[in-house]
Amino acid sequence: MRICDACHVHVRGSIDRCPLCGAKLRGEKEENVFPRLQMYDHMYRKIMRIFLFLSVIAVMVCLAANRVFVPDLFWSMFV
Ligand SMILES: [Zn+2]
Repeated sequence: MRICDACHVHVRGSIDRCPLCGAKLRGEKEENVFPRLQMYDHMYRKIMRIFLFLSVIAVMVCLAANRVFVPDLFWSMFV
């Protein structure tokens, strides 16, 4: 079990830094209790960035189309 000298908490697993304060942990590493999901997390973030980018583009295109074609009616607010 690893120990953080700053927080005085015991941390299970093989991480090197304290999850609370980021200080370096001392003690012997253990086998990880939880499975690693790093691959899934990385893929999830990439997909979320793509959707965020596409959403911003869609909003900008709708605002521009609204401004050019129908300036009296603010229909792009629904987008
Ligand atoms: Zn700590």
